[in-house]
Amino acid sequence: MDSIHKLQEIFANFPGIGPRQARRFVYYLMNKSPSFLNEFTKLVSEIKKSVFECENCHRFSAVADSHAKQTKCNICSDINRDDTTLLVVARDADLDAIESSGAYKGRYFVLGGSVPILDKEPQRRIRLETLLKHISDSENSNEENSRALKEIIISMNSTPEGDHTADIVRDALRRIKMDLKITVLGRGISTGAELEYLDKDTIQNALQNRH
Ligand SMILES: [Zn+2]
Repeated sequence: MDSIHKLQEIFANFPGIGPRQARRFVYYLMNKSPSFLNEFTKLVSEIKKSVFECENCHRFSAVADSHAKQTKCNICSDINRDDTTLLVVARDADLDAIESSGAYKGRYFVLGGSVPILDKEPQRRIRLETLLKHISDSENSNEENSRALKEIIISMNSTPEGDHTADIVRDALRRIKMDLKITVLGRGISTGAELEYLDKDTIQNALQNRH
């Protein structure tokens, strides 16, 4: 395969991008100046160095200080957040959408993906074991009862894959038998809706009407 087709194939694997759009991206790049392409490839090749994965919630954040090793993101390091709720999302983009709605002040956990229906190995798609460990660790570490984890809000896209992922997470949480309330977002969200594209009011309503 030549490099043009390889590039096309890479773009076609991007989330939400089909073969036709991938081809358009390649043509777009072909018409750009060498300096643009140098800047672009430099940014792409350094992306892993310019971000870090939070050891707690697993979201990616930009590295603020390249000399200090950061392990926790700004949300996890914020002592004013509500420790009693943990909101579980599939991807970083979902967390960003909920965070920018301003309707949620608790903690997060990013699963790192969702599970397609009929997938036989969900643990390879999402951080299920890490989530379970994270929950039992936070139960043990928070002696102070008023700050102990009380509720887990499973916040997935309103799609068959999102529902399926929510079922897997809920079943796994029930197996560990902890005294926690498990909720899902309210169905103010219409079927097929992806969290990433919802407006602030819809997210606020979905959180308020969680059940
Ligand atoms: Zn974090």
